Amino acid sequence: MEKILNLIGGQHVLPASGRFLDNVDPSTGEVYSLIPDSDQRDVADAVTAARAAFPVWSGMAAEKRAAVLNKMADLIDRDWKVLAAAESRDNGKTLKLASTLDIPRASANIRFFASGIQHFASEAHLTGSEAVNYTIRAPWGVAGCISPWNLPLYLFTWKIAPALAAGCTVVAKPSELTPMTAYLFSHYAEEAGMPAGALNIVHGSGSSAGQAIVEHPDVAGISFTGGTVTGRKIAATAAPMFKKLSLELGGKNPNIVFADCDFEKTVQQSVRAAFTNQGEICLCGSRIFVEAALYEKFVAAFVQETSRLRVGNPADDSTDLGPLVTAAHRQKVEGYIALALEEGGTIAFGGRRPQVDGLPNGFFLEPTVITGLSHHCRTNQEEIFGPVVTIMPFQTEAEALEYANSTTYGLAATVFTENLSRAHRMAAQIRSGIIWINCWLYRDLRTPFGGMKQSGVGREGGWEALRFFTEAKNVCIKLP
Ligand code: NAD
Repeated sequence: MEKILNLIGGQHVLPASGRFLDNVDPSTGEVYSLIPDSDQRDVADAVTAARAAFPVWSGMAAEKRAAVLNKMADLIDRDWKVLAAAESRDNGKTLKLASTLDIPRASANIRFFASGIQHFASEAHLTGSEAVNYTIRAPWGVAGCISPWNLPLYLFTWKIAPALAAGCTVVAKPSELTPMTAYLFSHYAEEAGMPAGALNIVHGSGSSAGQAIVEHPDVAGISFTGGTVTGRKIAATAAPMFKKLSLELGGKNPNIVFADCDFEKTVQQSVRAAFTNQGEICLCGSRIFVEAALYEKFVAAFVQETSRLRVGNPADDSTDLGPLVTAAHRQKVEGYIALALEEGGTIAFGGRRPQVDGLPNGFFLEPTVITGLSHHCRTNQEEIFGPVVTIMPFQTEAEALEYANSTTYGLAATVFTENLSRAHRMAAQIRSGIIWINCWLYRDLRTPFGGMKQSGVGREGGWEALRFFTEAKNVCIKLP
């Protein structure tokens, strides 16, 4: 069985404990590879390597670092088929999605920041005729980059690319549920000519390897994407050490549909927003609020469109939803379906485990549509992170806004309306970091990305990410 290894100081190495965790294929429920069960000893080695590499890597001209990063992106593009198949097998996402979204985006992330660092600039200020001030933005040292399982290589590269481009050296930990593409990627560091130790990848559980990265005194900052509960723990660990923190956390995103929307497109985009990647995207529109006049028609069309989605083998071209990532996660999602019924909801579609030919033990679940709930019940307040969506009517714009803003989350929101003034009003008043009008997951990597309230702290993307991985220093020169 294939054993994944850590990348530390340019070498692929076994974990200090000698122990491995099981890596399960969610389509079959079977263990298919082994993951290093790393602990603080592996993290200490990785941090030592990253510290040693820091003067070399940060001392290289930005163009040189960019050339290495671009070479890594070339290698992703060269191997995209292998990487897409690995991502699909590891996570359960469809091969179609891995091939068109995850893997192309991974190389795009790297190219974007390789280019960005060559255009990154800082300010200078003349203070009358007395002095000149300028700002140095220098990488701060060793960055800890911790990523989740839902978009494995996509989010892994979204963190390490700006960190490395800025000149930080990295100790990264991918999710223990989906480590395979980060492992395949780890071989590119040497092939692309990256100095040993600039990128270190330590695999293992969050409570052991992840916690050790956050606790390590020589890791100056943490870029984390994952659940809000984990984010809170990381913030509590890091705060007394005053580490720099970027936290991209959970969401419970509203999708608001006004009666004046372009109906066909709205239904199609709303289904996409609900069920892409089995609903396992932090940005999924999981609470749909529909203006009362359109409610019945919308629910009927949404259910019909959902019924066309095919749950099946993620490797098949015709599959729209693969299995959920783990048995435990499916159980959690099913728990929310049961809760929705207890809270008075009605299942308008789905809710069961489908039979998938040849894959009787996969963690499959039907896309599920629930109606009849209030906006403040637990089902509508807590993140489910699976193929479950609720639909509720609203009467007025003010009511839609109240419902949209009623959770502790504030990551993304979608508004469907052909009324431009209303679109601007809603965009200004919804409390979330991203507002999509008449679209969903339409991304420009230059835009700030992140959440308000308990959806996170800080922003990624564009200059925001390069600013995060650098520290500003003011130099003031008194003129004679
Ligand atoms: P998670 O919080 O369980 O794990 C994320 C990562 O943190 C994993 O690598 C895990 O091993 C590690 N980890 C766990 N405990 C840790 C600790 N104490 N110290 C350090 N690291 C630790 O999240 P998940 O289940 O992998 O991902 C799903 C969650 O991620 C959802 O809540 C989703 O909304 C969120 N998410 C947010 C964004 C965003 O950009 N805001 C994007 C994707 C996913």
